[in-house]
Amino acid sequence: MNSQIQMIQGFDFTDYKTFLISFVFIFLIVFLRYLFLSGVYYWIFLVVYRRKFRKRMLSKQDPKVGQIKRELLLSVYSALIFTFIGMVLLILWQKGYTTIYSDISEYPLWYIPVSILLYLVLHDTYYYWLHRWMHESRVIRGFHMEHHKSVDTTVFTSFSFHPVESFLQALIVPVLLFIIPMSVIAIMITLALMTISAIINHAGVEIYPSNKNSSLFRKYIIGATHHDYHHRNSKKHFGLYFTFWDRLMKTEL
Ligand SMILES: [Zn+2]
Ligand SMILES: [Zn+2]
Repeated sequence: MNSQIQMIQGFDFTDYKTFLISFVFIFLIVFLRYLFLSGVYYWIFLVVYRRKFRKRMLSKQDPKVGQIKRELLLSVYSALIFTFIGMVLLILWQKGYTTIYSDISEYPLWYIPVSILLYLVLHDTYYYWLHRWMHESRVIRGFHMEHHKSVDTTVFTSFSFHPVESFLQALIVPVLLFIIPMSVIAIMITLALMTISAIINHAGVEIYPSNKNSSLFRKYIIGATHHDYHHRNSKKHFGLYFTFWDRLMKTEL
């Protein structure tokens, strides 16, 4: 892993040719990873175990082809914007402006999960207030409504945002990486968690356990039921990963 990181650091991403080639390469990784994870998730919970999860389906009807096409097109734009922000971050990292560290031994191993949790909590805070603003501001509301066009959400709704919203969402990533020291591995795990959590929340099927022992988990972690309610009633449930902001600001049902 360290030698691969050193190899990446050896490229000059400010050179336009290297920038363009890397842009295409990273875009393909971002978009294909999203397609792959969405596809696998759909196949497991809505094809293989469809009968088992029948009672946990949140959508009343199968999604229309037009909706899927719209979601996929917006997802391409989102992936392009996420890639652009990723490239800017790569240059800032190379120039030594970020708190990203490549040598895993720089911080103790226990710090990896702590840094991931810290990142998710701060990201959740940013998203909660951005999301509320997007619902309240007349200027920006129209852009966010592109995401809300999907009432019965699908795995592809998870990346389906107007480019303006995608940009606002992605801005927090470099900002947080100026504040929280994070290893390259921790960042990769966090990016994967972000994609997976978005898919879980939009797939239209509740996979989290609902028995008494797990109620604590359901109480504090946002899942498909929680976010599905937001798509049907946009005055509640603005959180991303955790419910604490919704609970604190009384925007939870
Ligand atoms: Zn949503
Ligand atoms: Zn919303």
